Amino acid sequence: MIERKCLSCGTWNKDEDHCTNCGNPISPEQIIKVETKKKKEEEANKPKDKFDLFAERMKNHESSFMRFIYKVGYSIGMVFAAIGGFFAWMVAMANG
Ligand SMILES: [Zn+2]
Repeated sequence: MIERKCLSCGTWNKDEDHCTNCGNPISPEQIIKVETKKKKEEEANKPKDKFDLFAERMKNHESSFMRFIYKVGYSIGMVFAAIGGFFAWMVAMANG
């Protein structure tokens, strides 16, 4: 028989998923589940910055021209990121 201590109220429980005293999850699987859920909720509630909102609006724009602009902008951003990565690699190699 496994005994688990509740992290919230300190009650010792037998092989239960939830604390018999306060109902908090005490099995590792339950705790992980609750924590991932919390993180997801936090991320969902996190305010997006202006660029993200702008990109989102472009991506789902009703005009196909605007969606095209978004795709082009996105591709250019990707290329610049790749070039930036390449230069960072060059600098690292030159110094190494
Ligand atoms: Zn408890």
